[in-house]
Amino acid sequence: MSDSATLINPATGRAIREVPRADVDEVDEAIARAVVAQRAWAAGAPLERADALRRFARVVEDNVEELAQLEVLNSGHPIESARWEASHVAQVLNFYAGAPERLSGQQIPVGGGLDVTFHEPYGVVGIIVPWNFPMSIASWGFAPALAAGNAVVLKPAELTPLTAIRLGELAVEAGLPEGLFAVVTGSGSVVGQRFVTHPDVRKVVFTGSTEVGVSVAAGCAQTLKPVTLELGGKSANIVFDDADLELAAASAPGAVFDNAGQDCCARSRILVQRSVYDRFLELLEPAVRDWRVGDPSLESTQMGPLISASHRSSVASFVEGTNVAFRGTAPDGDGFWFAPTVVLAERGDRIAQEEVFGPVVAVLPFDDEADGIRLANDTIYGLAGSIWTENLGRAVRVARAVKSGVLSVNSHSSVRYWTPFGGMKASGLGRELGPDAAEHFTETKNVYFAADA
Ligand code: NAP
Ligand code: MG
Repeated sequence: MSDSATLINPATGRAIREVPRADVDEVDEAIARAVVAQRAWAAGAPLERADALRRFARVVEDNVEELAQLEVLNSGHPIESARWEASHVAQVLNFYAGAPERLSGQQIPVGGGLDVTFHEPYGVVGIIVPWNFPMSIASWGFAPALAAGNAVVLKPAELTPLTAIRLGELAVEAGLPEGLFAVVTGSGSVVGQRFVTHPDVRKVVFTGSTEVGVSVAAGCAQTLKPVTLELGGKSANIVFDDADLELAAASAPGAVFDNAGQDCCARSRILVQRSVYDRFLELLEPAVRDWRVGDPSLESTQMGPLISASHRSSVASFVEGTNVAFRGTAPDGDGFWFAPTVVLAERGDRIAQEEVFGPVVAVLPFDDEADGIRLANDTIYGLAGSIWTENLGRAVRVARAVKSGVLSVNSHSSVRYWTPFGGMKASGLGRELGPDAAEHFTETKNVYFAADA
């Protein structure tokens, strides 16, 4: 390996270890091995792939605690969240382990013979992962891709590669063929970019910023490579005057401050109907003050540090010059801490438009249902959102009118591995998870067999 990067524990600011940075030749070697491994993998019986993925899931289950501790160390995730994420990887693998025998094609009536379709794997799939949910986002790509008969080359974010590296080792321990699932560490501009340009990588899955996502899609267009994009968000938490205000206010901090707001689904705008605006803020304030920020290794902690010093500076720059209503608490000292912050905003303010990716929420009032919908749709993004109302008709109307890929009514749920996930507008292209994800890693082949010899 030519080079290495130093990982930092974001809760202490101290160095953890060095991780190699692959150069282009090393990426090409991993892709070449993946090409060979994929042929054998796809040629096997569906049950062989299903069994191998179930074994992989079991090995991940057996190592949940180790994976979770690695995420606490490398990413500063609270231990309870990190355990959930590691278990989630096993669940995603188990779910898509059910896909190989279910990737049925069609038989289509034709004259003079037989017409059938096949779901053919692409070959090698490149997966580019960000630093905010290193292992769960990786699994949303690699589990269905492998289930559909592909090989995977995976690039974790440079800041947070440890759990991905470990998952790569666990795959081999579970008996997946060598080279079938390769984790390649290094920079986005070298490793990630090589996935985009390499002719043998036939599909790319990218999660990260809208800016880099657009450049990845443009690169994939050069070789007509399909691409799935999961990008940023500025999701709305819409609170109507007929909502259960106590519940809406009590749950609002978790919906934006979970993972220190470093979540593409963060409800980072709270839109409150004007008639209940003051009452809602009164209820929100104690919930924000009670949000427990601190040592991520403690089970009582709800929020850890931000990922890096430079990201903390970026988050802080969004708050400068805004009207801060109130803040929660955060530890002093080493580590990249930032207290949860509630800002009163106006439409068009930078804080109401741009993704902060930190524990900062903008609160804005709206007048009526039509105005609430207009305001919810008033950003370039369209990933997630929540609607709080006790009026069923309104819930249906607003859920249909908000241009977002993932909405929840009277809750903040976004991710269930068995339901589709992804964004509209600048939040992305394509969907992950859900019942159809394995099929998204295939292309349809139609074959006509003439029977009238
Ligand atoms: P990013 O710069 O878009 O990076 C995401 C991934 O892409 C990383 O693995 C990165 O590698 C890689 N990459 C960077 N440049 C590349 C290139 N030219 N070609 C191919 N791959 C490339 O995102 P980030 O720096 O992690 O976060 C920045 C912002 O992205 C956040 O503030 C947030 O707005 C958004 N974001 C969204 C999500 C989401 O889930 N939708 C997740 C994370 C971030 P390196 O890490 O090595 O640079
Ligand atoms: Mg970046």
